[in-house]
Amino acid sequence: MELTAVQEKQYQKEIDRVFKSLMRQLRNLSRQDKRMVTKAFEFAREAHKDTRRKSGEPYILHPLAVATIIVKEMGLKDAVATACALIHDVVEDTDIELSDIKRQFGPKIMEITNGLTKIASSEVKSEFVSLQAETFRKILLTISDDVRVILIKLADRLHNMRTLGAMRQEKVLKIASETMYIYAPLAHRLGLYEIKTELEDLSFKYSDSKQYNEIAEKVQASKEEAQLYIQRFIEDVRKALRSTGLKYTVKSRYKSIYSVYQKMERKRLPFEEIYDLYAIRIILEAREGKEREDCWQVYSVLSGLYRANPKRLRDWITHPKENGYESLHTTLRGPEGQWIELQIRTTRMDEVAEKGIAAHWIYKGDNEEEAFLSEWIAQIREVLANPSLNALEAVREFKENLQPNDVIVFTPKGEMIRLPVHATVLDFAFKIHTDLGSAAIGARVNQKVEVLDHELRSGDTVEVLTSRKAKPTKEWLRYVRTPRAKDYIKHALKMQRKEVVEQGKALFNWRAAKYGVDENHPVMRELLVYFVIPNEEEFFYLLGSHKIETQKIQEFIRLKEEGK
Ligand code: MN
Repeated sequence: MELTAVQEKQYQKEIDRVFKSLMRQLRNLSRQDKRMVTKAFEFAREAHKDTRRKSGEPYILHPLAVATIIVKEMGLKDAVATACALIHDVVEDTDIELSDIKRQFGPKIMEITNGLTKIASSEVKSEFVSLQAETFRKILLTISDDVRVILIKLADRLHNMRTLGAMRQEKVLKIASETMYIYAPLAHRLGLYEIKTELEDLSFKYSDSKQYNEIAEKVQASKEEAQLYIQRFIEDVRKALRSTGLKYTVKSRYKSIYSVYQKMERKRLPFEEIYDLYAIRIILEAREGKEREDCWQVYSVLSGLYRANPKRLRDWITHPKENGYESLHTTLRGPEGQWIELQIRTTRMDEVAEKGIAAHWIYKGDNEEEAFLSEWIAQIREVLANPSLNALEAVREFKENLQPNDVIVFTPKGEMIRLPVHATVLDFAFKIHTDLGSAAIGARVNQKVEVLDHELRSGDTVEVLTSRKAKPTKEWLRYVRTPRAKDYIKHALKMQRKEVVEQGKALFNWRAAKYGVDENHPVMRELLVYFVIPNEEEFFYLLGSHKIETQKIQEFIRLKEEGK
């Protein structure tokens, strides 16, 4: 695409503006650090100067966006991480080599860039599950080098997902599924909730846009509807907390589109029955050394105002989650008896919750590998070092740790399919297409032949085996977990029955014709009484499925009609 001089000038202005805004975020760095970041920017700008993104904009805007995510959204105001983000695609996409990076920026930046490059080149090849597993394994391996590698990789993925529209559909699907399978759980494990949520929503949007749009619209509508109610609740909260003299801010938080979808699937509820669409968050500026006390004080004041549901109290302040999450959650019966979720935490806890590991980094001001992560990393190393596990099994182990509620499996072409836990081969087949489900007789799961009610596990590659003679049976209802499959099987059984009824009717009319009788003849009623059958439909069904002998019927009619 040829750009006009005016466009080109505008782009250059935009590049300068973004870089300036990035540097403003880094104003507290030492002069030396700032110089290094600026050098990395100029280096990358020069290296990418002739390349454009699919959308037509200069390529350098991408690394700039990645660096901005690192600094602004992850809160990682670190010179090395920013510099690496700026040059992260240089080795992969231009003639510049790692040795050049080392000469210009030293061994640390070279090492991180190398980690990023390794992942990128293995991704290109990953068309099948085992290769996806291999990618994941590589990512896990690089985490143990320097956690900044994975933070940059996540920022890179996030920006690519935000700008995915310009890609080919096939590639979009692959990137979206990889994001859901690998990157979102990783972000979650690192405590980067905001980023995890956005990755999931974007992946959902591209892989199932119909469902996504449906839910997104409903969420938007309910947001508008809930606004007044939330305002009123917040007012009550403010009044009640006045006497405590505590300083705090109140935010209302909406459930993400993907997590609404997950809940609907998991609990098999329609959108209208999801009651915890939003939560109210109270963020305290806690007094020095009184974090816990202040949080509990807010809890006790507000549970005096509205009845709290004791079963829904979650205390992650006394026992923080494994990834460092601290907060106090409860559900209150608010105005008009509506249940409303309340989250109480301090400013520090909130930063950690939103920015995860990066926030830990800020608070500890430590550039070395975090003690916080070291246990997890040790665990990863242990699994990776286990020679009896192949890559697929290693990934499985992590998937099950990371995301226990979903089973993620793959088609032979590498497309990702998400199913509820305990889903079977038959569920998988129906999820792909009802025609495939209806004709299924089994599947090759990771090359091994399995039966229809075989339970699938994350990471499995599933190829459905079919037969033209196969058709849904009553037993199938016991094989499936997903509502879609169940509904379809029930429907198919109903249609099968209808067909048999029609056959029974045809058979009856044919046999009875010689006595001048058909299905509408009054003798029908006497027939039902004689055979003790509740209705005609059942009668024709039994006849059609050869459970009543036609001879007996003929005999009955003959006696009746001749006896007249
Ligand atoms: Mn990139």
